[in-house]
Amino acid sequence: MSIFTVPPAAAIGAPISDIDTPALLLDLDAFERNLDELQARADAAGMALRPHGKAHKCPAVALAQIARGAVGICCQKVSEAIPFIEAGVRDIHISNEIASPGKARLLAQLACHARMSVCVDDLQQVDWLAAAVQEAGAELTVLVEIDIGHGRCGVADVDLMARIAARIQSLPRLSFGGLQAYHGTVQHVRLPGERQQIIDAANARIRQARARLESEGLPCAVVTGGGTGSADIDFASGVYTELQAGSYAFMDVDYSHNQPSGAGVSSFAHSLFLATRVMSRAAGTHAVLDAGLKSMSLESGMPQVWNAAQARPDAVLACTGVSDEHCTVGGAAEAASTAGATALSALPALGELVLLVPGHVDPTINLHDSLIGYRSGVVEAIWPIAARGLSR
Ligand SMILES: *Cc1c(COP(=O)(O)O)cnc(C)c1O
Repeated sequence: MSIFTVPPAAAIGAPISDIDTPALLLDLDAFERNLDELQARADAAGMALRPHGKAHKCPAVALAQIARGAVGICCQKVSEAIPFIEAGVRDIHISNEIASPGKARLLAQLACHARMSVCVDDLQQVDWLAAAVQEAGAELTVLVEIDIGHGRCGVADVDLMARIAARIQSLPRLSFGGLQAYHGTVQHVRLPGERQQIIDAANARIRQARARLESEGLPCAVVTGGGTGSADIDFASGVYTELQAGSYAFMDVDYSHNQPSGAGVSSFAHSLFLATRVMSRAAGTHAVLDAGLKSMSLESGMPQVWNAAQARPDAVLACTGVSDEHCTVGGAAEAASTAGATALSALPALGELVLLVPGHVDPTINLHDSLIGYRSGVVEAIWPIAARGLSR
C-alpha cells in the first residue's frame, strides 16, 4: 500500500472546470442524442443495431445502448467481453477470428454465461471451437466472415465459405449463424458517391454468398457488418440484418472529415473530449498542454482543439505537435503555414482547461481508466472503462 493518494480526476456534482487533467470527458447530452439517433434510424430501417464495444470498452455505455434497443454488442477480442458480461450484457458477438485453442476455451466458458457468437474464416478455427464447446458443455453461434473488399480477414472463395458453413452446421453444440461482412476502409472514404460505389460492389458479393448458402440449405439468419461511415447506405441497401457501428456514439476528428450523404455521419456530434490544461507558455509563441501520446492516439491524425468549449471562433487554435506527455498549441493560421509565432494574447492562459477532440476514438479510449460524463458543465457520472487493455 502506498502512503500517497492521487486525487480522483473528478467528483460527481463538481464543475468540470475543477477536473484534474488529462482526463476523458463525455458530453452526455450529445452522447445520448447520438445513441437515440442511430437507434431510431435502425428501427426505421427494420435492422438490428449491435454497437461495437471496442469503441468504448465501457459497460455503462453498452447498457445505455441496449436500453435504447440495441440487441447486444460486438467485441473484437474474447477477453474484452468479460467486463460486459459481468455488467449484465447477455448477447455478445466477437466480430473477429480466434487465434488458438486456448482462446476457444475461454470463449466457451463465456458462452456458459451469455449468448456468444464468433467469426471464422478457416476450418481449423471451427475445429478449435467444436472441441472447446464440447469440453465446456456450451453452445456457440458461429458466423463465416467473408472478405467483401477490405482485404483483412474473411474468406473470398464462395466454395470454401460453403464448406466452412456446412462443417459448422454438422457439429454438435455449434450452430451456423450466418455471415459477417465488414468493409473497414470504406468507412473513411470521404465522398458519399465513392462510398456508395464501393459498398454497391461489396453488397453484390454478399448477395451472391447468401444465395449460394441458401441453395445448399444453409440460410443466413444474420448478415452483420457496417460501421458509422457506411450506416446510412447499409440502412437503405437491405443486405444486412444487423449494423455494428461503434464510433457514432463519440465521433472523432477522422469521422468529421467524412462528407455526409442523406442523414449521414455529420448528424452525429462530437461527445468525447480529452480534457487538458496549459502547463507552459514560457516560449511566448505557443502553449503547451499536459497530455501527449500516452493520453491520445495520433495514427488517424492530430486532435482538434475544441474552440467551442472556450467560445473561441472555429479553428482559432490548432495542435502543432504531440510528444509523449506534451501537446503544443498555436494559432491555426500559423500552424497551417508553419510560419510561427502566435500572439501571446491569443493563447490560452497557464492552467486553462483546453478540450481536444481525439483524432481516433478507439485507441484513445483504451488509454484511460474512466469516462467522466457531464451535463451543463457539471460532472454527472464517472464510468469505468472496464475493458481497457483487454486485448487478448
Ligand atoms: C471497428 C469495427 C466496427 C465499427 O466501426 P466504426 O467505424 O467505429 O463505427 C464494426 N465492425 C467491425 C468488425 C469493426 O472492426
